[in-house]
Amino acid sequence: MSERTAVSGDPRTIMTGSVRGENADVITFEDFKKAKLKIGEMAIGMLRAGTLTSPDMQAPLDQITGIQQQIASLEGEIGQKRAAIEVIKAEDQAPKEPTAPTGEPAAPPPQPSASRFCPQCGAPAGAGIFCTQCGSKLA
Ligand SMILES: [Zn+2]
Repeated sequence: MSERTAVSGDPRTIMTGSVRGENADVITFEDFKKAKLKIGEMAIGMLRAGTLTSPDMQAPLDQITGIQQQIASLEGEIGQKRAAIEVIKAEDQAPKEPTAPTGEPAAPPPQPSASRFCPQCGAPAGAGIFCTQCGSKLA
């Protein structure tokens, strides 16, 4: 809503009714703006229904229609982004289950080759499966 629609002067409070002040209804500027908005909405509805025709009002009506289409388009984008956020949230929560530690390490422990000895001959065993000295299979 443009401020250009404000009436001139300082109309924040408009006094109606008795000038003497008794039973005077105080209409706030907000009420005034709401009343103008209501008339505007009614005019838009009438223009669209064809019950009101005014060439002068066609341009602002088209402008309003364009703005409403933009709003609808942006609301669609917001909906899509919210959906994307929900997907990201779901993805953030999902991996916690599979990666949770089960007590058993997934990879086998590294072979302590230096401290291993052949059970058959007692020779220091290498990193291989079989003893390099006697060829026995290392446990
Ligand atoms: Zn051996």
